[in-house]
Amino acid sequence: MALQSSIISEALVVRYVNYGESDRIVTILTPDHGLCSGFAHGARNSKRRFGPALQLFSRINILWQEGRYGSLRLLKEAELLEPAERVMPNLEAWALAAYASELVVALFPEEQAIPEVYSLLRSCFDTLTKGSRLGEIRILYELRLLGVAGLLPHLSHCARCWCTLGEAQMYFDPEQGGTLCRSCSGAAGLLPVSPLTLGSLARLTRLEMGRIHGARLSPLTLEEGRAVIDAVLYNTLQRSPRSAPFIDLFHPLS
Ligand SMILES: [Zn+2]
Repeated sequence: MALQSSIISEALVVRYVNYGESDRIVTILTPDHGLCSGFAHGARNSKRRFGPALQLFSRINILWQEGRYGSLRLLKEAELLEPAERVMPNLEAWALAAYASELVVALFPEEQAIPEVYSLLRSCFDTLTKGSRLGEIRILYELRLLGVAGLLPHLSHCARCWCTLGEAQMYFDPEQGGTLCRSCSGAAGLLPVSPLTLGSLARLTRLEMGRIHGARLSPLTLEEGRAVIDAVLYNTLQRSPRSAPFIDLFHPLS
């Protein structure tokens, strides 16, 4: 019988499902192994091996054994580095952490190492500790994540004729890969977007998450930016993210 290797990694807990009396199937995001799922025996009872580490949004060091249950790892021990409570200064921030985690799971396959995604989610959680600027944090995180996934729409020029952004209103069509000028937009029913919003979104794609508290977006940009990103996500996933309606309940973007 082949020896199963043990690995220690830093990780963020992004999802779990309770299993049986005391076990838990946990999905973690790691810098070098991407998204991974593992089985944690006694996770809800074993204070010695897991303590409070396997809570949603915890940052942990985790020890696992490879290939014990098919694609599921066997999670052996976890050490808490930062508790889940840091992203819960208020319910709105917690809802945004849930949404941010869901987007990673929805947009990236398991077992694919993309260190930028780990850095981005960790930075997103760090920015939530203040409980403010949640509308800006959401849009910046979404744009940066879409960028890593190769899904960032054209925002500074027409996606069809490549004319540059001017003073005129543009239209957004996710199926064409982004904004369209008036003459290229053709069919009615496309989403109108102001050049001001497109300029702000384009600038945001170059902003580090950690600097978001210095940025302020107008209500119009928050509203139009929301519609643009919703359209991209819907076009990509063929559905809306499940946790999105929950954050919209709080109207943190208006
Ligand atoms: Zn055009």
